[in-house]
Amino acid sequence: MENCLFCKVVAGDIASDKVYEDDEILAFNDINPKAPTHILLIPKIHIATLNDLEKGHAELIGKLFLAAKRIAREQGFDGGGYRTVINCNRLAGQSVFHIHVHMLAGRLMGWPPG
Ligand code: 5GP
Ligand code: ZN
Repeated sequence: MENCLFCKVVAGDIASDKVYEDDEILAFNDINPKAPTHILLIPKIHIATLNDLEKGHAELIGKLFLAAKRIAREQGFDGGGYRTVINCNRLAGQSVFHIHVHMLAGRLMGWPPG
């Protein structure tokens, strides 16, 4: 999708610090981390928000979380814990309209989130 920042990351037009990649998904470090580890996991196809998810995306979204689980184990924060977040639209603070899972780790997380 034209003018989508994360589609440009997928295309390689914008550089990213990749953590994981396969045919369908990409994970890379957030440019402005909010925790010692802050990874974004995205599908390679353009889906703007959680509101745009369809039944046919179910397996793909499951794969994002399986990748998050694998990264957590590989980087050793599975036992201590970590947080996954999807912001949807303005009131949740979504700023990039290509669906992404934030994966935050390496510090104690507050609850409720701000
Ligand atoms: P949102 O606010 O939409 O939930 O999250 C968007 C995230 O993308 C933010 O945490 C922001 O720091 C990150 N981000 C924005 N532009 C870039 C970029 O060009 N590269 C990377 N790696 N992260 C970005
Ligand atoms: Zn996109």
